[in-house]
Amino acid sequence: MSIRALLEQRIRERGPVSIAEYMELALAHPEFGYYMTRDPFGAKGDFTTAPEISQVFGELIGAWVASTWKNMGEPARATLLELGPGRGTLMRDALRATQGVEHFHDALRVILCETSPVLTDIQQEVLHKKHRSMGWIEELTPDDLPPLPLFVIANEFFDALPIRQLVGRKERHVMLQEGKLAFDLPASKKLHETCEPALEIIRLLTTHIAQHGGALLIIDYGYEGGSKGDTLQAVKQQQFIDALALPGESDLTAHVDFKALAKAAHSVKGIAVHGPVPQGLFLKRLGAELRATALCKNADSAQQQAILSGLERLVAPTQMGELFKAVAITRKDMPKPEGFYAPRR
Ligand code: SAH
Repeated sequence: MSIRALLEQRIRERGPVSIAEYMELALAHPEFGYYMTRDPFGAKGDFTTAPEISQVFGELIGAWVASTWKNMGEPARATLLELGPGRGTLMRDALRATQGVEHFHDALRVILCETSPVLTDIQQEVLHKKHRSMGWIEELTPDDLPPLPLFVIANEFFDALPIRQLVGRKERHVMLQEGKLAFDLPASKKLHETCEPALEIIRLLTTHIAQHGGALLIIDYGYEGGSKGDTLQAVKQQQFIDALALPGESDLTAHVDFKALAKAAHSVKGIAVHGPVPQGLFLKRLGAELRATALCKNADSAQQQAILSGLERLVAPTQMGELFKAVAITRKDMPKPEGFYAPRR
């Protein structure tokens, strides 16, 4: 069996599947789903992400969490949750970078939310003994969150959640046409996307933060104003391919609708949404260049080049610097988190 065979069978038996069902099956089917069966990251994999490009990324995010925790008056106990931790690289770099922050690690319980057993194994190996209190969950429920301040990191997580596509009032589906997978409606200008699972997660986390304090940091590619039409995309070996070409064998994502996420957050009383700020500007405000320069001091010339080209990929407007954006959600009575205002130097 494969995802394609499964999809064809389902469509024959029950009719066309929605885009959300298509994404859900292709990515998360327990046996054949894309994320469930492989490690998709890195130069040899299908795609690469910011923490895999440069250690500076995870280090700065670690420092961001520590500074937000300090802004709150250094609560003696707090939860640090990462959604979709991939290979565990971001968390590893974040924990290493904040080891020297007094009382910070002692205050934390680290929770990693990951559906993929393959990636959970890799995370457990990478993070082994990196923190004394660490646990994994497959799915986020309110019961997983102790009544404590909560800091959440989500890098390239929300883009992986299943979206629905509506053309006018009709929902777009995947059907079979002459034995091949095909869309039943064209991707016209009237196409509008929604991502209910994302909104549900935002409401859950925001409600917790409103009650117990903390902050949620989202970094992803997406759009801020109105609908952007069809953003469903598939990537295989660092190349864009047709979204229906290789279900279960390619990474499927959609752009994140930041406006919809902000609206879901604002539905909870007493909440502030900061950003979106372009990733390049966000990382520079957190001191990306200083950090890279410091790393270069103890590096040979080949390593220096790798450090600088990694930084360039993260911040340059033509690379990840503009397309990716950072958004933070905090309580209204908290100061603006770092990276969301111009720092005084
Ligand atoms: N944050 C990582 C990985 C991004 S890829 C990085 O920056 O490198 C998306 C990650 O989210 C993968 O780890 C994938 O397995 C996970 N994921 C996708 N859907 C999920 C869901 N519904 N619940 C938890 N994890 C999910």
